[in-house]
Amino acid sequence: MVRETGYYDILGVKPSAASDEIKKAYRKLALKYHPDKNPNEGEKFKLISQAYEVLADPKKRDLYDQGGEQAIKEGGMGGSGFSSPMDIFNMFFGGGSRMNRERRGKNVVHQLTVSLEEMYNGATRKLALQKNVICEKCEGYGGKKGALEKCSNCKGKGVQIHVQQIGPGMIQQIQTMCGECQGQGERINSKDRCKTCNGQKVERKKKILEVHIDKGMKDGQKITFHGEGDQEPSLEPGDVIIVLDQKQHPVFQRQDDNLVTKMEIQLVDALCGFRKTLTTLDNRTLVISSSPGNVINHGDVKSVNNEGMPIYRNPFERGRLIIQFLVKFPENGWMPTEMLPRLEALLPPRESSMITDDMEEVELTDFDPSEQRRRYSDEGDDEYEGTRTGGVQCQTQ
Ligand SMILES: [Zn+2]
Ligand SMILES: [Zn+2]
Repeated sequence: MVRETGYYDILGVKPSAASDEIKKAYRKLALKYHPDKNPNEGEKFKLISQAYEVLADPKKRDLYDQGGEQAIKEGGMGGSGFSSPMDIFNMFFGGGSRMNRERRGKNVVHQLTVSLEEMYNGATRKLALQKNVICEKCEGYGGKKGALEKCSNCKGKGVQIHVQQIGPGMIQQIQTMCGECQGQGERINSKDRCKTCNGQKVERKKKILEVHIDKGMKDGQKITFHGEGDQEPSLEPGDVIIVLDQKQHPVFQRQDDNLVTKMEIQLVDALCGFRKTLTTLDNRTLVISSSPGNVINHGDVKSVNNEGMPIYRNPFERGRLIIQFLVKFPENGWMPTEMLPRLEALLPPRESSMITDDMEEVELTDFDPSEQRRRYSDEGDDEYEGTRTGGVQCQTQ
């Protein structure tokens, strides 16, 4: 049982979440609240990053689960102990080293939602982006060649110094960036400025990127377009990084290179064999069969080789298709009770139990586990909520 759920709440996951879920939650939120996309949500971006930094590290997560935020602070992380949100973001999305970034423009990260079918079959998607490109008219100069002059406002220093009297005989110097030349120290006077970019040296243009989704790519996989970031004079442009986000599929769940599905069969199928069809992600029809004499139990798991996801970069090989069978029993009253002895005669014999008069006869009633859970949680006990590792859960009919 965890002490506090604050960090889990920030990422919108349960305290039982597996590490993959935590990564996915961070990925979605960090992209949404990144200052490039949401400049007014800096605080939120920071909180998301701190929650992720703790929960992504098994040791820190244990510490937090046991002692809450207090324990994290005492463990030397609180306050300035956290990494910068941007470092966490760049580490997660692969923004390159700091050295490189100084001579290069920023990387831009976009999320692209794709279906499981697209990851199975491969696909090409077009993505329209707005980006800064060097102005063609002035070739990034900003105006007529030779029209660049020293900024008269700041005398070429790029900064302005204000002197302020703050008390008797006390003055304070405040240095601010020159607004006239944006700190450049040079400027082009208004009549010589390039009309196309208005002296900005760059223009905002629409660019279409073709994103190739290769067979077998995974949720969270990154596709990098080198040098497709914003252009800026005298800087090498950064990259555009596309992060794939897989939509939930109604039939198949992906587990690494395997596909997992549930198949409902009738009691007669379970006992007497069956042939059933299943449509694959590339629209073929598979015939799934169990031969007569082979009994399938409720919850049995079987697999089909080479019908899972294609292996990335080796797409002629595929993982497994894993099928969990759910046996549907007949409803009450499906057969007149007087006919049951005929069925019983066909079924394996009962295990008889000795019943004597001194035993107590009790009544069986229906049981609703959700009612029970509510009562437990009223008492402040949430151990009913399942375990962190999860795994295949048995569905009762
Ligand atoms: Zn200036
Ligand atoms: Zn221009």
